[in-house]
Amino acid sequence: MLDKKLVVVYAILISSFLIAYPFMKSSALILSEPTKTEELMKTTKCRPQKNTVLSHQEIQKMQNKANIIFTMDDGWETQFTQGFHILKENGIKGSIAVIPTKVDTEGYMSLSQLNTLYNSGWDLMNHTNTHRHLSRLSKKQQKSELNGARTWLNNHCFKRASNIAVYPYGSYNQDTLKTLQEEHYRSARTIADGIQPNNGNKYLVRTINLLPSTDIEWVKEQIDKAINKRQTIVFTNHRFEQKADKAQMNFDPAKFKTIVNYVESKKDNLNILTYSEWLDLKGIN
Ligand SMILES: [Zn+2]
Repeated sequence: MLDKKLVVVYAILISSFLIAYPFMKSSALILSEPTKTEELMKTTKCRPQKNTVLSHQEIQKMQNKANIIFTMDDGWETQFTQGFHILKENGIKGSIAVIPTKVDTEGYMSLSQLNTLYNSGWDLMNHTNTHRHLSRLSKKQQKSELNGARTWLNNHCFKRASNIAVYPYGSYNQDTLKTLQEEHYRSARTIADGIQPNNGNKYLVRTINLLPSTDIEWVKEQIDKAINKRQTIVFTNHRFEQKADKAQMNFDPAKFKTIVNYVESKKDNLNILTYSEWLDLKGIN
């Protein structure tokens, strides 16, 4: 009798388990699915960055050439409406030094324009949060200016060049250099005029500022010089306008086109890179 009872109990237990099993399984699946907040975090996460993998030979070939980098300071709207289009016609990418507090304000680029540039492979570099003379600030304030802009860039998924600084007004001091080192910045560009020598200080990168007074023939000579010595030219532009302004902060788009075309004609002898691509090539991290 007892045995019979046990058999019935077992039978009931087994059959109820068999009935319940599919539900248990599905509820387990439901539990393992991400919650809504997790789902939201996933969608707001940044897209993985595309990395072009070059062979050892390709890298070596590139390392034996001069480099040209087109940087543009402040994120002016004409850099998008003019500069971006001129470079795009030639399949060239540039590098913009962004001031987060100026984004979406009059005369400056919008966030959506910055997104277009970044997704086209352009670098968005760190031009500090509010564009003050760094040398006039305390070390603590400098750190907050630099890291504030880096955080803003990173939060908008503009990570590629957020740790490359461009000094506002070219202003820096020993505290700036120390801060860059301590906070692991990759490089910084000055406004010191000239071709960047190989093995130059990575926090004192030189530039050739394109101003209304700049002679195009002289620029072409500098490009030829850089090619001969396999050095680097970092061009800097501000606004693109035909007429020179008082501050000399603009450049005629037609003249810019002439320079871009000249660089393009020397393509076999030089690399046209974004700032971060240049650092990658130089092995600067
Ligand atoms: Zn600036």
